[in-house]
Amino acid sequence: MSRIIGFCREFPADWRWLAGEKEGIRDSRKEPGGYPFRGTAYYLAQAAGRGGEPLRRQVIPSAAEEERRSGELTDPLGEDRWKPLPGACPRLVHRYPSRALFLLTDVCRLHCRHCFRRRFAGGGVGPASLEEAERTADYLRERPEVKELLVSGGDPLTVGAGNLAEVLGRFRRARPDLILRVGSRVPAVDPGELTGELAEVLAGAGPLWVSVQFNHSRELTGEAREALARLVDRGVPVLNQAVLLRGVNDDPAVLEALFQGLTAARVKPYYLFQGDLVPGTAHFRVPLERGWEIVRELRRRLSGLARPLYAVDLPGGGGKVPLEPQWLVREEGGWYYFRGPDGAEGRYPAEEEFS
Ligand SMILES: *Cc1c(COP(=O)(O)O)cnc(C)c1O
Ligand code: SF4
Repeated sequence: MSRIIGFCREFPADWRWLAGEKEGIRDSRKEPGGYPFRGTAYYLAQAAGRGGEPLRRQVIPSAAEEERRSGELTDPLGEDRWKPLPGACPRLVHRYPSRALFLLTDVCRLHCRHCFRRRFAGGGVGPASLEEAERTADYLRERPEVKELLVSGGDPLTVGAGNLAEVLGRFRRARPDLILRVGSRVPAVDPGELTGELAEVLAGAGPLWVSVQFNHSRELTGEAREALARLVDRGVPVLNQAVLLRGVNDDPAVLEALFQGLTAARVKPYYLFQGDLVPGTAHFRVPLERGWEIVRELRRRLSGLARPLYAVDLPGGGGKVPLEPQWLVREEGGWYYFRGPDGAEGRYPAEEEFS
């Protein structure tokens, strides 16, 4: 595992020394309304030097984080309103009938400056207890309509192979049919932590998908691709949930390289998220008009396999909605008219005539 480097408040003007630090500094406190720095030596090394700016923006705190805009919410997805067991297990979120979410730990190896769950991540509480996992397992046993459980956080892969096996094993015994989806940034921020042992645990808990977060092709290093291969080679399907971030990847060429690289690493680009209205992240948000421009260009450049769905979580907990640009232009005289990726119009009958 790459050692953890934490830092509170001010960041040294020449931060590069951090990547060479032997021991590192652990973050201890959480700033009121702020989000403490945390990084890994591995990621800071990738972020150093020419071309590293898109990575530095994701890990180095900036003064822009103090900016507040109207409409921002600490819990933009309204997750705290959808806790079915607030007393016994506040880690369980059940927002959609067929899918539930279990926040396994609040620990992350790196604090993404764009984090949308910063009210929870890095909170210093630590992993869920086995008791909480057990309560969640009971809840799932009684609700066969829940087909899928997202295991997220924080970063679930930081709890270690043994603990992860314990927790996933409980869910699996309660519900042999349950589809598990484990979300992690470890492959991008500390790929060495995704050991063969951890990959074995994930492979043995199937049906299970791993969902990773790569936001820039520079994060897809040889080590990152090896970590992903440890999963895919063991039959664990992997998908990527990227976030559209100003100054990081708000450029069709950057996203094209990212999604192409992921597809080559056998990782399916699943979502491209529009930034949530989280306080401290306004400087990362990309206007929707620009987002659509980028997505239209990606449609020209990438195959369907390499293309994610552009989506947003409606502020206030309204759920996820696709933000795809409008292909349907109008309906007229029994025909639907569409505009294709190259701007040409085509039509399709509204209703087939059968005789
Ligand atoms: C995103 C999300 C899900 C899963 O949504 P999918 O569209 O299936 O990926 C489930 N629960 C919550 C609370 C979510 O935010
Ligand atoms: S890995 Fe996820 S939860 Fe952790 S800091 Fe990054 S965005 Fe937030």
